[in-house]
Amino acid sequence: MSVKENISSCIERIKRDKTNSFIEIFEKRALRKAEGIDSRLASGDRNLPLAGEPVAIKDNMVIKGEAAGCASRILEGFVSPYDAEVVTRLENAGAVIVGRTNMDEFAMGSSTETSAFGPTRNPVDMERVPGGSSGGSAAAVASGLVPYSLGSDTGGSIRQPASFCGICGMKPTYGVVSRYGLIAFASSLDQIGPFAKDMDGIEKIFNIIAGKDEKDETSREIEKLSGKKGKLVCGIPKEFSGSSPEVKEVFDKAVKKLSRDFEIIDVSLPSTEYAVSIYYIIAPSEASSNLSRFDGIRYGFRAESEDLIDGYFKTRGQGFGDEVKRRIMLGAFALSSGYYDAYYMKALKVRRLIKNEFDSAFQKADVIISPTSPRTAFKLGEITDPLSLYLQDVYTIPANMAGLPAVSIPCGKDPAGLPVGFQIMAPRARDIFLIETAKKFEAVFSNE
Ligand code: GLN
Repeated sequence: MSVKENISSCIERIKRDKTNSFIEIFEKRALRKAEGIDSRLASGDRNLPLAGEPVAIKDNMVIKGEAAGCASRILEGFVSPYDAEVVTRLENAGAVIVGRTNMDEFAMGSSTETSAFGPTRNPVDMERVPGGSSGGSAAAVASGLVPYSLGSDTGGSIRQPASFCGICGMKPTYGVVSRYGLIAFASSLDQIGPFAKDMDGIEKIFNIIAGKDEKDETSREIEKLSGKKGKLVCGIPKEFSGSSPEVKEVFDKAVKKLSRDFEIIDVSLPSTEYAVSIYYIIAPSEASSNLSRFDGIRYGFRAESEDLIDGYFKTRGQGFGDEVKRRIMLGAFALSSGYYDAYYMKALKVRRLIKNEFDSAFQKADVIISPTSPRTAFKLGEITDPLSLYLQDVYTIPANMAGLPAVSIPCGKDPAGLPVGFQIMAPRARDIFLIETAKKFEAVFSNE
C-alpha cells in the first residue's frame, strides 16, 4: 500500500470516530505530505525512520498554515505562521500529521471535559472520560485511529490519560523536547511527549522529537547513558498512599510480579504532600502571565465592543471558559503585591525541597514507582468540583515539580475492566534509561 493510500484510510477511520478525539483532520495537507513521502521513497530515500506513519498532535502545538486553538474559543480563526519544532522533526522523519486532537481548554483539566468542542469519550468505556488534558491524543491511540500521538504534560496530562485509556504515555525530562511552537500554559513545567500502545512506539517517537533546539533556551541534550549493572532498585514513596482499593490491588499485584526480578524498597518524599498545593500556585501564576497575550487584538477571537478597554473585558470574558478564568484569577492573585512572597515565593521554595528529596531518594533507588492515578477513569460529569479534579494529579505532579522524566504503562485492569496505569520516574536526563526500564516492566506485566 502506498503512503497516500494508508493515510487516506487512516483519515476515513478518523471520520467515523465516535469518541470526539479530533478537533480537525488536516486532510488536504496530510494527503499532500503523503504523496511527497511516496515520491521520496520511490527515489530511494532511506532516511525516513517514520516513513508514512500517521501521527496526531494535541491542539496546543502549531503547524504553519493550519489552525491551532488549545480547544478554546479565544483562538477562533487563528492560523499559525510557523511550525512547532516537534512538527518539523516528525515531518523530517517522514511522519504525516493527520490532525489536531481535543484537549481540556489550554490544557487545564484532567478529563477533557472543558474543551470548547465538547468532551472526548474513553474508547474503553464510552460513558467515561479519557482523562486529560491530552484526552483526545490518548483516545485516538487507544481506539486505533493512529499509532502515535503527541500530548503535553504540565502536571500529568500525558500520563493520566494514558493510564485511563490503557496505553503508554511519556513525559520526558523538562527541556529534553523543544517547547518551540507549544502554546504555553506554565512554561517552567510544560513538556511535550508521546503516546503509543507500547514502549517500542514511545521510544520510536521520543528518539525523533528529543534533543537540543536552539529556539528553546530551556532545551537540552538527552543523556545517552543507559543500563546499570546488578539488580535494579525500585523505590515506592510511602507518601503516595490514598489510591482507591481497586487501583491499590492492581498496583500491589504488579509490584509483586516485579519483585521476582527487581529489588523493591520504600523511599520517602515528605514534601510531595504539598505538591498539588504549590502546583496550583505556580501553574496558574505562569498561566496568568502567558495568557495575557490573548487580548482580542493579536490573536483569534474578538468580541463586539464599545472601546479598547471594553473590548479586553468582553473578548476575555466570552473567549475563555470558566476553568481558564479561574486559573487566571488564582494566578493574578498569587502574584499580586503583598501576596507574592506569601504564595509564589513560598511555593518555589517547596518546589526546591521536592527536587532535593527526589535527588536523595535516587541515591537509594534507580527508579521510583507508583500508580499513575489514584483511581481509574471516572464517568463523564461525575467529578464537577474543581478541587476533586485537582486532586486527581497527586501522583503525577511531583515529577513536573522536579523536572523528572516519567512514564505511565498499563499494569492490569480493575474488576470493572478499567485499565490501571503504572508510573515510573527516573532521575533528570535519564530518559533512555527510563525507556529501557519501562520496557522490562512492560514485559513482566504482559507476561501473564
Ligand atoms: N490536570 C492538571 C491541571 O489541570 C494538569 C494539566 C496538564 O498537565 N496540562 O492543571
